[in-house]
Amino acid sequence: MLNANLILPWSLAENNETYSWRFKIIELDARVAQGDCFADLSSEITATIRGGVDDLNRHYADVCLTGELSLTCQRCLQAMPFTLNNSVRILFCSDEASADLIDDEDADVLVVGETADVREWIEDQLLTALPFAPMHESCDEDHLMQYRNDKHNPFSVLKNIKP
Ligand SMILES: [Zn+2]
Repeated sequence: MLNANLILPWSLAENNETYSWRFKIIELDARVAQGDCFADLSSEITATIRGGVDDLNRHYADVCLTGELSLTCQRCLQAMPFTLNNSVRILFCSDEASADLIDDEDADVLVVGETADVREWIEDQLLTALPFAPMHESCDEDHLMQYRNDKHNPFSVLKNIKP
């Protein structure tokens, strides 16, 4: 779990504050870390959050995630490199009614109170930023053959049973 993940969103925006966190995939919530998506859970992600107030006097935070990750190819099940570089603008609202009034395709709208848990933002954003079914452009043929053979062999599951 990340430490010190609570921020004061309104003062972050008013004061143009910037924060940065660096953490491993394995430190994130189970819904992110325990999927079969990552080949290497020790990969690190850097999250940078920069607050500001835009021309329409809306408070926001720009959340940027970067990192060199290793995903599991969904075709050959081998690791494949993935460069994460994803930015999202989050517009703050104090209640649902004012959130409903905002129609901005380029930003996410979020109802926030006095404090906000940025770890949740980061986890949500990471899940959105990852490819739905990551695949090599061309898989290593040897691994692919191996996988197909295993798949068509009804006894292949036995290999996974530990004595
Ligand atoms: Zn592959």
